[in-house]
Amino acid sequence: MIEPVAWDDELELELDLPLDAPSLDADHPTVRAAVADKLSVAPEGLPPLEVRRRAIDARHRRVRFHLTVGARPAEPPPLAAPLPRAVSGDPVIVVGAGPAGLYCAYELARHGVASIVLDRGKLVQARRRDLKGLTQHGRVDPDSNYCFGEGGAGTYSDGKLYTRAHKRGDVRDVIEILALHGAPAEILVDARPHIGSNRLPKVLTAMRERLVALGVRFELPAKVVGFLVEDHRGQRRVAGVRLADGRQLTGRAVVVATGHSARDVWPLLVDAGVTLAAKPFAVGVRIEHPQALIDRAQYGGAAGHPRLSAAPYRLAHTTDGPGGQRGVFSFCMCPGGWIVPAATEVDGVVVNGMSLSRRDSPFANSGLVVAIEEADLAALGLTGPLAGVELQRRLEVAAAVAGGGQLKAPATRVADFVAGRGSTTAPPSSYVPGVTATDVGEVLAASGLDLAARMRVALGRFDQQLRGYVSADAVVVGVESRTSSPVRVPRDPTTLASPTLADLYPAGEGAGYAGGIVSAALDGIRVARAIVG
Ligand SMILES: Cc1cc2nc3c(=O)[nH]c(=O)nc-3n(C[C@H](O)[C@H](O)[C@H](O)COP(=O)(O)OP(=O)(O)OC[C@H]3O[C@@H](n4cnc5c(N)ncnc54)[C@H](O)[C@@H]3O)c2cc1C
Repeated sequence: MIEPVAWDDELELELDLPLDAPSLDADHPTVRAAVADKLSVAPEGLPPLEVRRRAIDARHRRVRFHLTVGARPAEPPPLAAPLPRAVSGDPVIVVGAGPAGLYCAYELARHGVASIVLDRGKLVQARRRDLKGLTQHGRVDPDSNYCFGEGGAGTYSDGKLYTRAHKRGDVRDVIEILALHGAPAEILVDARPHIGSNRLPKVLTAMRERLVALGVRFELPAKVVGFLVEDHRGQRRVAGVRLADGRQLTGRAVVVATGHSARDVWPLLVDAGVTLAAKPFAVGVRIEHPQALIDRAQYGGAAGHPRLSAAPYRLAHTTDGPGGQRGVFSFCMCPGGWIVPAATEVDGVVVNGMSLSRRDSPFANSGLVVAIEEADLAALGLTGPLAGVELQRRLEVAAAVAGGGQLKAPATRVADFVAGRGSTTAPPSSYVPGVTATDVGEVLAASGLDLAARMRVALGRFDQQLRGYVSADAVVVGVESRTSSPVRVPRDPTTLASPTLADLYPAGEGAGYAGGIVSAALDGIRVARAIVG
């Protein structure tokens, strides 16, 4: 008779498995045998097991799977509990249907609180047509593009769901809500979960449909062009919003979750009496390599193994320069992805990255950006809360001019860029509007800062870490200017409302409280709880 192994629910075991392991399923006999071996017990005594976390460990070029295994509960806990319920009462007006706004409305509905979700852009399906206009005809619709529309900037993205946020339970909640609405179950266990822009729209639609069925109102497109302010017992409060079609909507509170690219919203906030502040951000380029080159550099001889997906990377280096030390780092790396036109204004070129769930394009792209501090802006004579926007604009317009029109983007082979010269030809690129071979260093010089010099130093370092990173097959494409918001909308640390306009709640990335899909969603939830509380 085999004694059952006493296994506490909290107990988790770390396990390394080779790439060619027969199975990664926790209940496969070979995995159970490996667990039993680690615990020096008989496999028959183990309880049913589950994989709680799965990662690829490619350190020291010895590529293997790293699993965290625990006991599978007899009754799995319900996903994404509690579910939202029917809503009622004076609504909260949520401006922006990106992750911050959507999760804010979702959390409000968990408390039965009504909301009206507004977005200047269109529902995901209609939005897709406008993206075609962008990529195939070089036409920017200032209200419907890669940044604006249902789901916000993250909808047609890589759908990376990693975050530096620490509260594990809260992050898990955000991810479970996605899984509950149709995202693949692997996101619950993958160490670096991602959804892909072919799947995200369906998930967003399912979330919206659930909320609408419970009484939440979605109005898209509905562009906010002003805030209604009233005196309430001697205090100024926001009473609602004015829409581009002339309507006015009122509510118990207004959440402003308009993202890092809604530059026209910040002046509206100033007009309503809200104070703004400049905050650090980063600008640079997108760098693109053949994915096979990155796979070789990361996986060595294991590159191309059918169990390995396109390899990601993350690089950072601190550079010295006239303004002091500044970080140069990879940003929003998209393995097997595409470079996309992320402009929201007709006279600028902005690039960013996205991928499909399979991450199967032959290219790897990533932002390669330099940190910008307030001192850098001051050195350029740019002051005030919107100084960073001016710097972004200069770069975007310079990129449009160098690209030659129709959203063509300026490009330089990385080997030429490092040598301080332009290119006369560009290698193949995933950027559909097309690239123009030129000198991206010149484009970056329009900033007035030593961005290219810092990047060259960092690239030298990155080439030592990822062999081939600097090569003639790799290309830098300009400009990556919308990494995060250059503006913060201050809020009271306890109530999370604006200290200068009662009942107005700045939220998400555009207000300076998030940087990515998950952190924006977390902030939306936090703001909803503050309103309810
Ligand atoms: C191409 C691309 C790829 C990305 N890839 C990733 C990734 O893989 N992983 C990741 O974590 N992050 C990624 N990001 C960043 C991520 O999308 C953002 O951090 C996140 O979406 C921020 O969420 P948010 O809700 O604060 O704002 P947003 O998502 O920007 O949403 C703001 C919404 O407000 C609306 N709005 C703006 N002005 C108005 C107005 N006046 N009236 C009404 N509505 C308005 C906009 O239309 C928009 O839908 C990517 C971004 C882009 C552009």
